[in-house]
Amino acid sequence: MSNKQLSAGDHITSKCTKCKDTTNHTIVAMVENTVARVQCNTCGGTHNYRDASIKKSVPRGKTSTAKPVKSSKIETDWENRINTVNPAEATPYTIKMVVNIGDIIQHPTFGLGCVMNTIKPNKMEVSFRSGIKLLRCQVA
Ligand SMILES: [Zn+2]
Repeated sequence: MSNKQLSAGDHITSKCTKCKDTTNHTIVAMVENTVARVQCNTCGGTHNYRDASIKKSVPRGKTSTAKPVKSSKIETDWENRINTVNPAEATPYTIKMVVNIGDIIQHPTFGLGCVMNTIKPNKMEVSFRSGIKLLRCQVA
């Protein structure tokens, strides 16, 4: 570690944002004993001094506070569909209900669902938040 005092006009290496590299610079201004501004000898630009020897401690990877992004396509489609309907208009599910594709039903276990497909004579595919279920019904 050198104790040589730096002063304006001295040469120093610094990170240059224009050159995107660590280049030789000439000290333009000092604040007390700290290099404040430097001029890049490569591009001639002046900027605040950045000590090339100090690495930013940027945490790698995800932080523990980042909430997991877990939204399957089925769930997104389901939400888009369900968001457009009034839950009060959903028909309570019974195995004798008569459905058409696009109907919204309220299932006691699975909750709100949208009829995706009907299979004669008595089955339907219903899209719930938890996924597509095959349920008994009456097909119109
Ligand atoms: Zn430069």
